[in-house]
Amino acid sequence: MIREVLQFPDARLRQKAAAVERHEIDDALRALADDMAETMYDEPGIGLAATQVGVAKRLIVMDLDWSEDGERNPRILLNPEIRVAEGKAVSEQEGCLSVPDFKSDVERHARVVVRARTLDWEEVEFEATELESFCFQHEIDHLDGILFIDHISKLKRELYVRRRKKQLRRDQEEREPAGHADG
Ligand code: ZN
Repeated sequence: MIREVLQFPDARLRQKAAAVERHEIDDALRALADDMAETMYDEPGIGLAATQVGVAKRLIVMDLDWSEDGERNPRILLNPEIRVAEGKAVSEQEGCLSVPDFKSDVERHARVVVRARTLDWEEVEFEATELESFCFQHEIDHLDGILFIDHISKLKRELYVRRRKKQLRRDQEEREPAGHADG
């Protein structure tokens, strides 16, 4: 089932997600993970955090190299944690399914080592660079209520926020019948 992806400035995107306990792995959590993968492919995107579908649990899905007609191997990870972060790199034209109509270069760590659990409670570790590294940092940020626009300059962020609010106002006005909008 495709879930609604929350959009900035929804306050739920700012929640800090709670760790998933082993006893919480049940059919509902597996269904959530399946739904998140389905939603990610539908959007389309290469990563999605549970926070983005309004569930404050430390769960992410990632698939960096899927294609419409090819193989799909979503990585479903619980409690992902950055153990090592090294170097600096620029993530070019990063975007986010929760931040519509905006992309920006973002300064991130060049290399990360991430430890996580699978749905079978197996401990897994990944060493990642480039896009994979940026994607891990981006998704784990979501679990802490952080968006990629928090990593760009204040000026650029404020320009985006203003543009986004104007767009939301316009959408609102189009939905409301003329003469009934207040102020
Ligand atoms: Zn995102």
